Amino acid sequence: MSRLESFINRMTAQKILLEHVAEVIGDVTGPILELGLGNGRTYDHLRQIFPGCEIFAFDRVLVAHPACIPDAHHMIFGEIRETLAFCAPRIGGPAAFVHCDLGSGDPTMDLATGAWLAPMIVQVLQPGGHVLSGLELGHDSLETLALPPQIRPGRYFHYRKT
Ligand code: SAM
Repeated sequence: MSRLESFINRMTAQKILLEHVAEVIGDVTGPILELGLGNGRTYDHLRQIFPGCEIFAFDRVLVAHPACIPDAHHMIFGEIRETLAFCAPRIGGPAAFVHCDLGSGDPTMDLATGAWLAPMIVQVLQPGGHVLSGLELGHDSLETLALPPQIRPGRYFHYRKT
């Protein structure tokens, strides 16, 4: 598969899965956390499909499209390993949904990131809250959910906190 095809598949999977979570999340309440604002594409889609929900975006740098930059209160700058553990007073309550788009493309780095990230996500997530992640997040409190049939297993991961 060419890198172009892989990129298209990743974007397609993100759109399908974000919309899938919007359908199945039901009455779980709380803010949405976007881990990795990047260009702001998935942030922009989240605010379109979750109208009225508070969305907090995390990143160490600001490289987003000017139309996709959250206001200062909703943009949490810094290393996620340092900021996520201390975001509770700012986000105002446990999250309903965490979207995590932090894959580096390096399998060893991604394993290391998943190891520190999984328990931190569990800490900020509402029971019954959902996680979509490009990285596998093994944790006893995260139940793995089936992906829609269009998504190749292993491309993305969908979890719910037990
Ligand atoms: N979801 C974004 C979009 O649709 O445009 C793309 C996100 S991009 C793949 C990943 C982003 O995560 C980058 O902007 C990078 O700076 C940020 N990032 C990766 N690891 C991070 C970390 N440990 N702490 C803070 N930001 C991180």
